[in-house]
Amino acid sequence: MSPQAVSAAPVAACDTRSNNTYQKLLECMTGEGVTEHLEAFQKIAENNPDPEYGTTRAAGTPGYQASVDYVAGLLEDAGYTVTLDPVEITYAFPPELRQLTPVAADYETGVFSGSGEGAVTGDVVPVDINLTPPRASTSGCDGAYTEAAVGEPIVADPTGPDDFAGFPDGAIALIQRGGCSFALKVLNAEAAGASAVIIFNQGNTPDREALALGNATPPPGSADTEIGIPVVGASFADGSALAQPGSTAYVEVITETRIDYNVIAELEGKNPDNVVMAGAHLDSVTEGPGINDNGSGSAALLETALLMANLNPENTLRFAWWAGEEQGLLGSADYVAGLSEAERDRIALYMNYDMVGSPNYIFMVYDADESTFEAPVVVPAGSEAIEDVYESYYTALGIPYDDTEFSGRSDYEAFILAGIPSSGLFTGAEVPKTEEQEAIWGGTAGEQFDPCYHEACDTINNVNAYALDVNSDLIAFAMLTFAYSTESVNGVPGKEVPGPKFVLPEPAGPEGTFAGEGAGAALGALN
Ligand SMILES: [Zn+2]
Repeated sequence: MSPQAVSAAPVAACDTRSNNTYQKLLECMTGEGVTEHLEAFQKIAENNPDPEYGTTRAAGTPGYQASVDYVAGLLEDAGYTVTLDPVEITYAFPPELRQLTPVAADYETGVFSGSGEGAVTGDVVPVDINLTPPRASTSGCDGAYTEAAVGEPIVADPTGPDDFAGFPDGAIALIQRGGCSFALKVLNAEAAGASAVIIFNQGNTPDREALALGNATPPPGSADTEIGIPVVGASFADGSALAQPGSTAYVEVITETRIDYNVIAELEGKNPDNVVMAGAHLDSVTEGPGINDNGSGSAALLETALLMANLNPENTLRFAWWAGEEQGLLGSADYVAGLSEAERDRIALYMNYDMVGSPNYIFMVYDADESTFEAPVVVPAGSEAIEDVYESYYTALGIPYDDTEFSGRSDYEAFILAGIPSSGLFTGAEVPKTEEQEAIWGGTAGEQFDPCYHEACDTINNVNAYALDVNSDLIAFAMLTFAYSTESVNGVPGKEVPGPKFVLPEPAGPEGTFAGEGAGAALGALN
């Protein structure tokens, strides 16, 4: 059987029969079916606005909760055993920086990494700032602490000059960027009794005018490693306004711990000790509804699970929709951390789907065999056999594909750290498409693979229907393949998938590789 022989026509029996052959599964897997879930996610975000962020499905918001209800409800109705696995996430209220006197103004701001929390009203006290061009600044660098260089441990400095001499206890320190690390400025301010820190941009060059934001976390080995006061940013212009005499301000950085849920759906196979897992993160960023990132992976996986609900597989199937990925892979990390050694050993493999329908897509597979990219992580043995299934499938359809670095920078990280073979698909995020890639996949060179990556415009209009359709088929194909046998991955014998044989060719090899030393070699290998 050739893959082209599979028609896309939906059949009425899709929901009730066992889609236990490639043909049956793929004729039921349609772009329309997957898009229905995307439309549902879009509506969920619109109908459950967050009081602070509006139309979003981010961690801790009503839109995330409603996404969980939607996915879990459909899976339960289809007969899955569904578990809602609680995950602690951090909901951050939008920070505030408001000048109260001598003018009233609300300034654009953001929170520095490593900031403490609090809501503070106080006098704004400039600390050795320099508003006169060329605006050389060592504002806040001299004080109770010092550092040998940025990134080196911050240590006590009992002698020498002090930018904070006479600093009034409890005032808000207004500090200009430049001269030393953000962490040193903040630790010096805190030691001098500041109740909050505003770091404004230096204003010495055009690229130091905008809102200043960065990382104020003290490096490991520092005399103090935890900041206890809020640290917010400001632009050079707003910092200058805050520096005028008689300035008072209100600074607020508040977060709240909330509980979100991973959705885990399981279908027991004949071999409960060989679990085939696939996952997609269900949360978005706060900026928007997250329909490509990652409604696309979530929807394709959901449709796959629903179509496989009546299967009687050899291996146990476990589908996961992760909470809090955008906050640092929280849901998947929490899940793997909660498994016993024995439970980890039972997981044959994990497949990750994060952004599979990018509007300016190229087709990419996690490069488990490191043919293009040397992985910055240890790749568990067997991962390359998952990669091969994806690549052979694209090859069978005559669809060019490329490698993407096996980086661990999505929900498969926790699995590979636990030694579980993994791979996944990706259609690109913020990186611009090259001319060469445009020649291979079409689309627009010079434009990001996903121009709405992490933006409000990641809506139902931000998905390429063809890319989503191809990848949804492949997600279903791979799940069915491993539902019957994971022998190529972990040596556990299984059975052939029933029905007509789907003979996969050798992978054709990556095309259009855009980065890394392997690029030339990979392309050369095609000739
Ligand atoms: Zn994502």
